[in-house]
Amino acid sequence: MNKQKVLISACLLGKKVRYDGEDNLQTHPRLKEWAEVGAFVLICPEMAGGLPTPRPPSEVEHNATAQDVLQGKAKILTIDGCDVTEQYVKGAQAALELTQQHNIKVAILKARSPSCGSAQVYDGTHSGQLIDGMGVTTALLRENGVAVFNEDAIDEALDLAEFENQ
Ligand code: SF4
Repeated sequence: MNKQKVLISACLLGKKVRYDGEDNLQTHPRLKEWAEVGAFVLICPEMAGGLPTPRPPSEVEHNATAQDVLQGKAKILTIDGCDVTEQYVKGAQAALELTQQHNIKVAILKARSPSCGSAQVYDGTHSGQLIDGMGVTTALLRENGVAVFNEDAIDEALDLAEFENQ
């Protein structure tokens, strides 16, 4: 079957691209099935933006949102206080370009990441506190009409991609 392509966080398919050099491999059977027919386009926005692996953990600054970052009103800072905003925005733009290149309407991105998060993110204090919000890549994709899900909603994402394919 010729499936609608889906953008996916590379760490969810086992690529060791996380800030700590690890992955977030998911074993959902439909992921394997879709991967085998080449339906996934993989990206790690943080590496696409020029950051290395491993890298220091980063968060959108306290009391700001990913949308603020995209509008140039807020920064993304590492735990050491280094400004990595430019790399995060560049990674988000690289993800958007991939969706446009492949006519992608659906993405599955890793929950709670400052790039890929889609429902909650850390609050900018580097203390493990979660707040409602999304990462910068997710925010940019959603602004451009891409439906973004996380690894807790793989069936919903793939059902929508199949529907888009009809
Ligand atoms: Fe995974 Fe996204 Fe973090 Fe890259 S930026 S490691 S794809 S969650």
